[in-house]
Amino acid sequence: MSGQLTKKLSGWGRYPVAVCHTLRPERYAELGSNSESSIARGQGRAYGDAALNTERQVVLTERLGRLRSFDAQSGVLRAEAGLTMQQLIDFSLPQGWFPSVTPGTQFVSLGGCVAADVHGKNHHHDGAFSTSVMGFELIDADGGRRWCSREENFDAFAATVGGMGLTGIIGEVELQMRRVESAYIQATHHAADNLHAAFELFEQHYDATYSVAWIDLQARGAAQGRSVVMLGEHAPLERLSAAQQQSPFAIKARANRRVPFEMPGWLLNPLTIGAFNQLYYRIEGRRRTPFIIDYRKFFYPLDALSDWNRLYGRRGFLQYQCVVPRDGAQQALSELLTTLAESRHPAFLGVLKKMGKTGEGLLSFPLEGYTLALDLPFSGDALLQLLQRFDAIVSNAGGRVYLAKDARLDSEMFRAMYPGVEPFIQSKGVLDPDGRFSSDLSRRLELG
Ligand SMILES: Cc1cc2nc3c(=O)[nH]c(=O)nc-3n(C[C@H](O)[C@H](O)[C@H](O)COP(=O)(O)OP(=O)(O)OC[C@H]3O[C@@H](n4cnc5c(N)ncnc54)[C@H](O)[C@@H]3O)c2cc1C
Repeated sequence: MSGQLTKKLSGWGRYPVAVCHTLRPERYAELGSNSESSIARGQGRAYGDAALNTERQVVLTERLGRLRSFDAQSGVLRAEAGLTMQQLIDFSLPQGWFPSVTPGTQFVSLGGCVAADVHGKNHHHDGAFSTSVMGFELIDADGGRRWCSREENFDAFAATVGGMGLTGIIGEVELQMRRVESAYIQATHHAADNLHAAFELFEQHYDATYSVAWIDLQARGAAQGRSVVMLGEHAPLERLSAAQQQSPFAIKARANRRVPFEMPGWLLNPLTIGAFNQLYYRIEGRRRTPFIIDYRKFFYPLDALSDWNRLYGRRGFLQYQCVVPRDGAQQALSELLTTLAESRHPAFLGVLKKMGKTGEGLLSFPLEGYTLALDLPFSGDALLQLLQRFDAIVSNAGGRVYLAKDARLDSEMFRAMYPGVEPFIQSKGVLDPDGRFSSDLSRRLELG
């Protein structure tokens, strides 16, 4: 194992920043007995402080990314948790298999996907990432290993999926992949004039495997919630052009564009974003005829620009993602958008999505209803106070905030939102009795 290195780390939102002592093991066997506070880190794509541990240890899992086995008949794959979604797809897609659930970036590790129990555009049908997880190895603070699945050590399984790394280090993961005929998606877009129309479109197109809406956050009044609802299906061979049918899994390499330097904070402002939103709504909202698009453009549009988080300037940004139960969701999210508009705080990216049933993870985020995610440049106390007002709206509606995106929720509100906290703390007490797995997030939320 390379030695401990002290450095500044942050999540994807670049707020907050913490000085941590990092370790980068080459093999799980190097994770011996650990007497100090420690937390695992995958690709650092959680937005806030989930993978930060100020003045304490952070275990970087990027070297722990070996593929262990793959059965091309059944689609069952086993790999170390540091493997990224991108590496997984590069390996499995040419053989006709795609992840059953994927978040909106492929630069995440399998460990991060299990620990946050991430959801994708198919959550309303297929549930969260854990539904595709057959089992995983959990490594405790003394280096001991236990296999966790629905059949074995289920309590540890349920505490670890969505458990934000606080029950131990996830070692090898076994996954069920999804059979696909091509690397393409057949997509359809629908323009929604307002939030009500967007909800109607989601209900009307419940059968679509993938659905998500981009919201124009600059639209106000009767146009509040104006959006483009995007639907998708894995494209069968017969929908592809003759050229694509020749090699259905070969797609053009993507140019790797980077944000060359830290952008000044004022570059993203309501005027530039407002103009972009108008254009996007007009062009994308009109694409009602199904079209074929490669999987990266459909699932990972933001990955085309590396380091896009630098567009928000030195102070970084917060993403506020909440989910509210279906009954009352429209009213609660409308209230939230009104509160945002009245605050005049800039907000640039808004995403709405219908979600399916609650899963097995004690701290998993999803519940049946609607989720809204907003990207907000960090502006200090003004933003923090605004988000507390959002919390009150969400909590009153019976909803919750997503820990993988969070950097500021307080422990009282957290307890009101997550009924699984007490059973989680009990399971953590069994799996990690000395509380050696902790993070800035766990201290903030008083998670033992
Ligand atoms: C552009 C973008 C789009 C996104 N879209 C979505 C989306 O659509 N749906 C969604 O659900 N999320 C989404 N996310 C959030 C992201 O999927 C999660 O935060 C995920 O956990 C990040 O994985 P990571 O490997 O970067 O983990 P990190 O950010 O490094 O860590 C996240 C958590 O996982 C834990 N962890 C990581 N590896 C291990 C391990 N081996 N053992 C134990 N614990 C571990 C960490 O301790 C931490 O608590 C998005 C993020 C970005 C930047």
